[in-house]
Amino acid sequence: MSASTDTVHHRICPLCEACCGLEITVRDQRVIGIRGHAADVFSAGYICPKGVALKDLHEDPDRLRTPMIRRNGRHEPATWDEAWAEIARRLPALRAAHGRDAVALAAGNPSAHKIGLQLTIPRLAKALGTRNVYTASTLDQMPRHVASGLLYGHWMSVPVPDIARADLLIVLGANPVVSNGSMWTVPDFRGKARALQARGGRLVVIDPRRTETAALADTHHFIRPGADAFLLAGMVHTLFAEGLANPGGLAALVDGIAAVQAAVAPFSADAVAARCGLPADTIRALARDLAGTPRASLYARIGSCTQEFGTLASWLVDVLNILTGHLDTPGGAMFPQAAAFAANTSGPAGRGRGVALGRHRSRVRGAPEVMGEFPMVCLAEEIETPGPGQIRALITLATNPVLSAPNGARLAAALDSLEFMVSLDIYLNETTRHADVILPAASPLEDMHYDLAFPQLSWRNHARYSPPVFPRAPGQPAEWQTVLKLAAVATGADPSVDALALDAAQATQEVQQRFGDAAPQVLEATAHLQGPDRLLDMALRTGPYGDQFGRRPDGLNLAKVQAATPAGGIDLGPLEPRLPALLRTTDGRIGLAPDALVEELARAARDLARAPAPLVVIGRRDVRSNNSWMHNLPVLAKGPYRCTALVHPDDARRLGLTEGALAQLRRDTPQGPRSITVEVACTTDMMPGVVSVPHGWGHDLPGMQLGLAAQRPGANLNALLDDTLCDPLSGNAVLSGVAVEMLPAGPASVPPADPTASAAAPRTAVQA
Ligand code: SF4
Repeated sequence: MSASTDTVHHRICPLCEACCGLEITVRDQRVIGIRGHAADVFSAGYICPKGVALKDLHEDPDRLRTPMIRRNGRHEPATWDEAWAEIARRLPALRAAHGRDAVALAAGNPSAHKIGLQLTIPRLAKALGTRNVYTASTLDQMPRHVASGLLYGHWMSVPVPDIARADLLIVLGANPVVSNGSMWTVPDFRGKARALQARGGRLVVIDPRRTETAALADTHHFIRPGADAFLLAGMVHTLFAEGLANPGGLAALVDGIAAVQAAVAPFSADAVAARCGLPADTIRALARDLAGTPRASLYARIGSCTQEFGTLASWLVDVLNILTGHLDTPGGAMFPQAAAFAANTSGPAGRGRGVALGRHRSRVRGAPEVMGEFPMVCLAEEIETPGPGQIRALITLATNPVLSAPNGARLAAALDSLEFMVSLDIYLNETTRHADVILPAASPLEDMHYDLAFPQLSWRNHARYSPPVFPRAPGQPAEWQTVLKLAAVATGADPSVDALALDAAQATQEVQQRFGDAAPQVLEATAHLQGPDRLLDMALRTGPYGDQFGRRPDGLNLAKVQAATPAGGIDLGPLEPRLPALLRTTDGRIGLAPDALVEELARAARDLARAPAPLVVIGRRDVRSNNSWMHNLPVLAKGPYRCTALVHPDDARRLGLTEGALAQLRRDTPQGPRSITVEVACTTDMMPGVVSVPHGWGHDLPGMQLGLAAQRPGANLNALLDDTLCDPLSGNAVLSGVAVEMLPAGPASVPPADPTASAAAPRTAVQA
């Protein structure tokens, strides 16, 4: 076939937060090439190996292409009509018999990369009327949302480093060389960090592992896992002790500075040094460096959030950026301005309703609701524990908590006890194997794309749209259609209900509520669109760069953003100062010392003298993996075995461990002893006393359809961790700094398979 028949498509990668623009070449309805889109205004041609794996994901024979119904313990292919009939037969009856909270909803990380799911999951939750909503946010990022909500009045008002103009970036508990940002969308972080260094700037990394980012840094400091809040409090203390606290231009907008000064009194650098495993002089020097560099910021992420003082750490990051005059200033920590869907660009500027925590509490342990959801660590107990409000049915959307949440074995048993479970997913995996009905999601290449969340976290402002590369397979609905229909059927609608009709009715209702007298004109102007496209057009047109339905003719609308796709989208410029207009706090000010966080500091002060455990475990991110669902793709699975336990050679000697041999990691929990067996890799990149195991592995459970992943299943780190531990303010799971024992477990008995050689082998589904 001649290359003249090739077509080139431009697609934003939906696989991680970096949102790279890709150029995808198609021949005869098959992808023949994926590379970075050089003209992309945001990512400028950057791509990582996961982006290339979109081809493998699209073609994966294990990817579900038809609904599955579990009959007599086995998942069998079914028609969509059969699947909807089964849901209609069972779910509304359960809800009617046991009440709204009896049906729970759980959504995972991939839903954050799907505008169709982002816009319809809230509708599903609202239709169900359940308080039992759980998402992956409480596995790694809820502390960041809580800190932002309390300081700035909205969960998504998250300042990010203005790396393009910074002279100093301090990175704590994050590995952006591998992740390309988390709660910070920054494709090609490595290139941007090198540019920072080339203009004389410095990158400083603080992490218990000499990560890929630390290897690039000018300076790297080890820190004991779980001590981030203590380090940060010690830095804040230093600012006050040395007269360096100066919020600069924000001084007139910030309240509570004296209260912060009083609250950090117990946390001198000398007092926290032992807890952090860092010399006091280093802590003081970090504070002085941040305060003394005009264009600088501190950025912290997953390692800082997955701790028992996670919200405290996230808040102290902003306290430091504010007290050193770096918040909302070029080269400091700045707020992106998204073209659509950002709450901090809608409504009256500079003031709002603020946020509320704990409007209600979970039934079993009394955990506070945050952002309308309960912590994922509560899900198993809410299923297991009898009584009014017990969860009896579960809807999962693109989530795999059996692997991604602590104590997956307990959750798996709880899922087995449900009276009904329905999943929307691309795989029959460790979680969906428990579902009675699995509804397949379309391939990402069959879906339109516009990032709803990540322009709110981006290193530069932009608007980019991707049309589908391929049409959906006959009969395959878009995910938003499936979720809209699920909301209707779950609440008693006939299974023949038409998703497009539901969408049209809901859009009309929303437009009438939002636009009032102007509703007829808005409906007419968007009548050619449906689903997410229609909502996106309205959001763009009424957004900060929008055409305001003709009142600002040069402004954005969907057609303009779509037309810019081949040219790499629309660049909306560098980050600009946004305070005080961004604020949505009730008084239009930044209260630097929220009561809840001052109380958390007091709790931390009581914990300051706790002796460190001899060995603690942390997670790890790999460029070829993202959470639990990319281990079935040949291009990512090939190469060296990655699910290893990294330990310092001194620890290996002390514990009798051998490079390449197996080790048992074990710990005692309130529910009994737990252990996993992992291959040992010795490296001085680890801080002594710390072992690192990546999460998201453990593909050796029965009943799944992940043939390649099962060949090298790895061990599930989260099986070792405890669902009773969480950060009390945010409900985020504690996944870092947990004490473990490590014992020799003999030689690696079976050499890991090489998927490079076996990728083409047939992959047979294992039936439950
Ligand atoms: S860094 Fe990789 S996975 Fe993430 S968006 Fe870019 S290409 Fe996709």
